[in-house]
Amino acid sequence: MTEILVVGSLNTDLVVRTARFPAPGETISGEDLQIFPGGKGANQAVAAARQGASVAMLGRVGKDNFGDFLLDNLKMNHVDTRLIQRDDAATGAAVIMVDTNGQNSIILSPGANGKVSPADVETVSFADVKLALFQLEIPLETVLRAAIAAKKNGARVLLNPAPARSLPDELIAQADFILPNETELSQLTNLSVKDIHSAETAARALLAKGAQTVIVTLGANGALIVNKHQATHVPTFKVNPVDTTAAGDAFIGGFASALLRGLKLEEAVRYANACGGLAATKLGAQPSLPTKEDVEKFIA
Ligand code: ADP
Repeated sequence: MTEILVVGSLNTDLVVRTARFPAPGETISGEDLQIFPGGKGANQAVAAARQGASVAMLGRVGKDNFGDFLLDNLKMNHVDTRLIQRDDAATGAAVIMVDTNGQNSIILSPGANGKVSPADVETVSFADVKLALFQLEIPLETVLRAAIAAKKNGARVLLNPAPARSLPDELIAQADFILPNETELSQLTNLSVKDIHSAETAARALLAKGAQTVIVTLGANGALIVNKHQATHVPTFKVNPVDTTAAGDAFIGGFASALLRGLKLEEAVRYANACGGLAATKLGAQPSLPTKEDVEKFIA
């Protein structure tokens, strides 16, 4: 029984720290290479699985060593990988330079993620799936096809519209829950989002396009729930942020798992805030995703 099916990306993050970025044509030395599992899809799958949800992932990796690495990592985190295909394209990668000021410069190589096709989702039975979770690091036509299939089969559709871009109304209309951060919300609606008030206005534009509930993540300001019944700001917990990478992924995995446990909307968002806040206190993406025990201890 799969409670959550994530249809999305798997990446290897290749990180080199350096005193400064190289100029075009220049070669410089950096620190030792660090290799991390990443990709928004895989991060959110792991985030939900660490909360105890039964999670499967659909996607593609290459037939290379990085593909093995990413599949092994998901298995280690109790994510079902049977719907992940091996593609002739290379495994998706992010080549990341980080300088001493913490600034980064990233080249994303989608590789096999770019090959996840509508045909891949046609063979999937969404009948057992309670909740289908999507981001935008695989082809849009695939996300749309899968979201329609999920909805038709009674699964709730959660859409994290990241990375920021505009979207067809047809996709927005599939979302039982759409969860943008402020940048993504602004990009989706062409409206400026700079505070809770402007976030609410922009969120209402997504409701007008057919989304059922919008949950805007607001960093240290927590999150805003907007649907036709309410506009509710849910403040987050006070933490000392060390690295907010994957705070959004932790929030989404936490929210999905909390919904499945039957928490009411505001309680699920409060729980998700705790997940995001905890992730912000630790370095890295997947290493900072909290377990259910971590979150319960933190809230208490
Ligand atoms: P993203 O990482 O996608 O940009 P946000 O920055 O909005 O998303 O963070 C997602 C969630 O993580 C927030 O809604 C909040 O719950 C939590 N969070 C992020 N940054 C902080 C912070 N500095 N203090 C407390 N919670 C935070």
